[in-house]
Formats: sequence, C-alpha cells, structure tokens
Amino acid sequence: MATVYDNLVGQDHASEILRAAVAASRASVETPETNQHGMTHAWLFTGPPGSGRSSAAVAFAQALVCGYQGCGTCNECQSAANGSHPDVEIIRTEGLSIKVEEIRELLTRVAWAPSMGGWRVVVMEDADRLTESAANAMLKAIEEPGTRTVWLLCAPTLHDVLPTIRSRCRHIQLHTPSDEAVTQVLINRDGVTPAMAQFAARVSQGHIGRAKYLALNEGARSNRSIIMHLPLQLNSLAAAFKAAQTLVDLATAAANAASEVRDEKEIAALQEAYGKGATGRGMASGAAKAVKELEKEQKSRATRMVRDSIDGALLDIATFYRDVMMVQAGSSDAIINTDMVDAINAYAAKHPHHSTVSKISAIMEARTNLAHNAAPLLTCEALMCRLAKA
Ligand SMILES: [Zn+2]
Repeated sequence: MATVYDNLVGQDHASEILRAAVAASRASVETPETNQHGMTHAWLFTGPPGSGRSSAAVAFAQALVCGYQGCGTCNECQSAANGSHPDVEIIRTEGLSIKVEEIRELLTRVAWAPSMGGWRVVVMEDADRLTESAANAMLKAIEEPGTRTVWLLCAPTLHDVLPTIRSRCRHIQLHTPSDEAVTQVLINRDGVTPAMAQFAARVSQGHIGRAKYLALNEGARSNRSIIMHLPLQLNSLAAAFKAAQTLVDLATAAANAASEVRDEKEIAALQEAYGKGATGRGMASGAAKAVKELEKEQKSRATRMVRDSIDGALLDIATFYRDVMMVQAGSSDAIINTDMVDAINAYAAKHPHHSTVSKISAIMEARTNLAHNAAPLLTCEALMCRLAKA
C-alpha cells in the first residue's frame, strides 16, 4: 500500500524514525504529559541538495495530521501537501533571507490551537536563510512548553542553522539516494520508461528533482546535451567566450521560463486581494506599494534562480571532466555520461591527466565565486578560457 513515506527515496533510516515519532505523537495528543517520551516539537532535516529534505518534512507533516498515520491519499494528506490544510503551513522562501517581520507574522498565525485537534505543523524549507533576529524570534516559539505546534526545519547542513536553534531540534540526516533508488521511483511514481529513468538518475547524481525534470522534459534534455558538448568546442579563445555566452543564455532562459509564469500568478493574486476594481485612494496606493514590494522580491528570486541554473550547468560540465579522468585512470566502466563515451575517450587520449584535474578545480572555483555573487558571464568567460587550455 502506498504511504507518504514513498516520497522519501532511499531514506529508510529516516522513514523509520519518522514513523515511530508519528505513532508516539498519537499517544501524546491523548495524554500530553507523556510527550517527553514521544513527540518532539522541533525537527531539523538536513541533507545534500536533491536528497529530498523538504519532501521528507512534508511527508512527516502529512503523517502527523492524517487519521491513518500518513496514507497519502486522504483529504488531510492531500491538503497538507498542497498547502491548503488549515493546520499545516509550508514556508517556501524565494528571497535570499527570511526576515524577522515574516517570522512575527507567522507566529501570530500559528498561535491558535489546531483546528482539527491534533497538531499544527510548520514546514520551513530554507531554515538556513533565517536572519539572526528572525531565528531568535522563532526560538521563543520553539521553546514554549505545552505547545501544539510542531516545527519542521530544513537546511543543507547542521552548520547552516544557528546553534541555539539546532540544539533544540531533533536531527534527521538524509543521504544522497543511490542511482537505483532514483531509477525505481522515476519508473514507479512518474511512469518513466526504464531506459530513460536509468539515464536521468545516472546523470543527475542522486538529485531526485533534477532527475525527474530531465526525464519528463525534452527541452531540458536537449539543453543539457548542448551544455555537455561545450568542452569539446573549446579550441580557441573566441570559442571559449562563445561557450560562456551559450551557457549563461541557456541557464538564464531556463530560469526565466520557470519564474515568469509564477511571477504573473503572484501579481494577479495580490491585485485580487487588494480588490482590483476598488477606487478608494488609500486602497490604490496600498496595492501599488505591495505590488512594488512583490516585484522586488521576484527580482531577487530571479537572480538566485539564474545563479542556481548556471551552477547546475557547471556541475554537469564537471561530470564530463570527471569521466575523462576516470578513463585516464583506466576505470572506463565508471563513466557517468555513457551517451558520450566516444567523445570522452577521444578527449582523454588527447589531453594530459594533470590538466583534467586542474580543469575540475577551475570549475569548482567558479562555482564558489558565483556563490559569492561574482558576475555570472564574467565568471563563466574566465572559466571557459581556463578550460580551453590544453
Ligand atoms: Zn492520510
């Protein structure tokens, strides 16, 4: 039978802990005084990108409000997952930080008793983006005794969260799922053909979301193929600059396509909330101000998405050089990009091993610079010039 834990791909240990906590949470709803032995009010989900931190947290939230401990199909489960359950709040941050005003607003919302009598659950997908004052504001709520609110925080690693917060959380560590686990979930859950599922799982390196996107999206696959062939075209400086432009253009287009639809929907929803037809003076200026605020948020989100998209492309290119290095070390059977095997063999024969190693570190350096807000095109141009060297 399907359950919400099916979404935790390759995370058997975490699933086990969460199942036990859900079972214990039932007892503590009935007799709150036993709570210290069962349920915890604050949880921290950590794991590498794509390991499914927020999927795990959402599954746990579903199981906590479900009458059947997380069946995945009842009303409670479905509304919890899509954000319409009155007792489940999913905080997805698009901006670069979560500010103290947002946390204060959230705290007033979650102060009421849960409407269904069980738990009120807050899932925070990017707890690493809490500002210090926001984290401190939240801390008080987490510490409050006898509360019926459960906090599920997600972050890449423990060190991305303030010590004061993480010391009060029960920690769930997620791992990069194996290629086989990702392949199976693409076949069973998303109806992908076995061959495509294997390809998508292998080249996505355990990132479930990327694997699914690639398997279901032909445009994404053809963009990826263009990006993966860039290393083969770097035979002059002019070609290096061209390759950098291609990479940035493709990454930007992909990021913009994803955000445009969402931006328009958000603005429409906001105008609706303010009453588009309203002619009152105060109303109009309030709406204009809110739209302006939203547009500012959307701009910072778009910037971040472009950076994330370039970073993903650079990671893909790194797998090319990684494969070349494998061939040069005599381990041809460990290749990730099996669809490019001839090109990889030819490149490996033509270039010295030490240059492959320094090319991979050049890519990692460029990623670090991008993460520190270096200009994307400039960074990619400098990188491609280094990769163009023999
Ligand atoms: Zn259910």
